[in-house]
Amino acid sequence: MNIFIKNAEIITMDKENPVISGGNIRISGNKIVYVGKDGVPCESDKIIDARGGIVMPGLINAHTHVPMTLLRGYADDLPLHTWLFDKIFHAEDRLDSDAVYYGAKVAMAEMIKSGTTTFADMYFFSESVAKAAIKAGMNANIARCVTGKEEDFKERLNEARALFDEYNCENDGAVKIDFSVHAIYTCGKQAVRETSRLCKKLGANMHIHLSETMKENGDCYAEYGKSPTEMFNSWGVFENKTNAAHCVYLSENDMNILKEKNVSVSHNPTSNLKLASGVANIKEMQEKGISIAIGTDGTASNNALNMFFDLKLCALLQKGIRLDPTIVSAEDALFMATVGGAEALGRADTGRIKEGNRADIIILDSFAPSLIPVHNPISLAVYSASGAEVKTSIIGGRIVMEDRELKTIDLEEAKAKVNESLKRMKLI
Ligand SMILES: [Zn+2]
Repeated sequence: MNIFIKNAEIITMDKENPVISGGNIRISGNKIVYVGKDGVPCESDKIIDARGGIVMPGLINAHTHVPMTLLRGYADDLPLHTWLFDKIFHAEDRLDSDAVYYGAKVAMAEMIKSGTTTFADMYFFSESVAKAAIKAGMNANIARCVTGKEEDFKERLNEARALFDEYNCENDGAVKIDFSVHAIYTCGKQAVRETSRLCKKLGANMHIHLSETMKENGDCYAEYGKSPTEMFNSWGVFENKTNAAHCVYLSENDMNILKEKNVSVSHNPTSNLKLASGVANIKEMQEKGISIAIGTDGTASNNALNMFFDLKLCALLQKGIRLDPTIVSAEDALFMATVGGAEALGRADTGRIKEGNRADIIILDSFAPSLIPVHNPISLAVYSASGAEVKTSIIGGRIVMEDRELKTIDLEEAKAKVNESLKRMKLI
C-alpha cells in the first residue's frame, strides 16, 4: 500500500534536521520513500491528514517479557529475589503455549496503543510470541531464554535454535530471533559459553540481564571474584552484538568493557524503581559513549508496557538524583527510545523517519489537549504525552491502528482467552 501523510510536525530523529514543521511523508510498500516539505500524493495513495499533529518514529521497547501480562499485578511490592524465586518462577511453571500466545497479544495491543512499534522479548514458549507478533504485524526481536547451572540448559538451547531456524527474518524481516542467557545468577559457565558460541555462529544478537541488583553483583563476586560483566566477557557473551538490560551496578571497568565491546544498555527505570533495585548511572554511560536504549521490562515488574512513561521517567530520574536539570534532555531520552533502541536490537533501518528506512511511524492526535501548543514537538513527546494521544500506528508500511482502532488484534478474544487460561492454571 502507498500512504501519504501530510501536514505534520515530523520528529525525524535526524541529528541535522530533527524536526520538519508542516512536512509530508510518503510510504511505498514497507519503506519511507519521501520526507520533506514537498512531495505529492499519487493516485493510489491513502492520504492521512495529520492536521498539524506530531508524527514520529514508533518507540522501541528494548527489554520486555511480553507474556508476563498474564502476571500483571500478581505479585507486587516485594524485593526482586523474593518476587522472582518465591512468586514469579512458581507461577511461570504453570504457563502453557496457549496462555503465552494470548498474553502476548494483550501485550502487543497495549504496546501499539501506546506508540511502540518494535520490541525485544526474552521468555519461553517463544514460538507463541513469534506467532502473535506476526499476526499483530509488530517488529520483534524474540529470544528463547536459556537458564541452567548444569547440563539442564541444553534442552532450552535446542529450543532457542529451533526457534531461530523457524522464525528468524519472518514476516519480511519484522521478526528477528535473538539468543539469550537469562542472567549470571541463573546460568552456569557451560550454558553461557555454548549459547554465546551458537549465537555467534548464526550471526544473531544476544539479549541478557546484567547487574540488575546489588545482590546479583555481591553473589557473583562471592562465587567468581569478578563482576557479572567481567564474567560474561570472559565467557564470550560480548563477542555477539549484545543488548544488556538494567546495568544498575556497573564499575568503571565494567563500563569500559561494555563500550569496547559495543554492548547496548537497555535502561528500565520503572522496573528498577518498583523492585527497589536502584538507578542506573545513565550520565556516566553517556559520557563513556555507551549506546543506551529504554525498556519497560515485563508487566509483572512495571506494571505497564507504556514507553512514553519510561521515556519521561528516564529524563526526570537522572535530573532528580543529581540535582541537575540539564542532564538527559528530552532529545537524549527520545534518542534512547528510538535510535538507541534500533541500535540495541540490531535494526539499523528503523528508529528514524528518513528515506529508505522501514515505515515504522506513529501519528499523535493534534487535538489532544496535552499536546497544545506546539513550541517544541520533542518536548511534548517526552514530557507531555501519555501514550493515549497515539492515534494511528504504521509498522512496516501497514496500518496496525487507525483512529485508536486496532486493525490486527482481536482484543476481545485475547482478553477472554487470557482469563480462561488463568482460570485453567489456577492463577486467578
Ligand atoms: Zn527483564
